Amino acid sequence: MNLDLTNMLGPSEARIGIDVGGTKTQAVAFGPSGEIGVAHRPTDTAGIAGITATVSSLVDELRLLPEADSHTISAIGIGIPGIVDTAAGTVSHGVNIGLAESDVPLAATISRATGVPVSLANDVTAATIGAARYLGSSDDVALISLGTGLASGLILDGIPRTGKLGSAGEIGHIPYIPDGLPCPCGQRGCLELYASGHALTRAWPQGGKHPATHLMAAARTGDADARSVLDSWIHAVAHAVTLLGLTLDVQEILIAGGITEVGAPLLEELRGQLRRSAEHSQFLRQMGLDSRVRLVPRGAHVAALGACLTTF
Ligand SMILES: [Zn+2]
Repeated sequence: MNLDLTNMLGPSEARIGIDVGGTKTQAVAFGPSGEIGVAHRPTDTAGIAGITATVSSLVDELRLLPEADSHTISAIGIGIPGIVDTAAGTVSHGVNIGLAESDVPLAATISRATGVPVSLANDVTAATIGAARYLGSSDDVALISLGTGLASGLILDGIPRTGKLGSAGEIGHIPYIPDGLPCPCGQRGCLELYASGHALTRAWPQGGKHPATHLMAAARTGDADARSVLDSWIHAVAHAVTLLGLTLDVQEILIAGGITEVGAPLLEELRGQLRRSAEHSQFLRQMGLDSRVRLVPRGAHVAALGACLTTF
């Protein structure tokens, strides 16, 4: 990732962005001319002590890199699942990382452990900030993260929108199928049960570690079952795009998550579905949602980058 941060960092200054996930945590050190080091390890989800140990060891690892030798780490930004109070540096309801309690004082705890100021952001918000910077997006952008669940991050008029309770963009829990599958949130038929990465692997449990790639290849070579699974899933993803497009009218809707490993064919399928949905609606056609979707490249460390950018 080539980024010019010379206007933001001193010549020997570096900052670290960290993406804490349910299974893996990734840390990236950024210097004035971009990335200077990347490290990752499995997330220790044994409460605040586990997360602090995971982050501290990654920071130590980055500090020991020869590339980091001439830099002083001045701040750490952490993107984390859950409801984040950025001002207080606390996280609540980070259930899948072992932080189910409310107002866990993670920023202060990690700052004490590392000796560096720490700021927190919600992981999807961080990914949105990072992806918008990485792709050179406008100030009006939404990101749909297709992973275990489905959530969206929002930047409106240049400002991340997190909402009154920190739950802005939780479109995965908008009901999509009346009386559909039961959702852990207590409702039925929620969109994330049909449009997430997890929904795809549940419907197409083939292809080992790359079910989406396997599904796409099978559908495109005429496998009728694969085509049916792919069409249902793409229809649900297109619904998520339409929800955001019609609610916010953002300039770009970015698609992120492991599923983007499929690359261009995924974007073609999604654009095709959006065009089909608009076929009989002049209103939808003039929205041009198919031309507003973009994929965040797999391997771009956008969540870590966005977490780092929140330290400024
Ligand atoms: Zn739900």
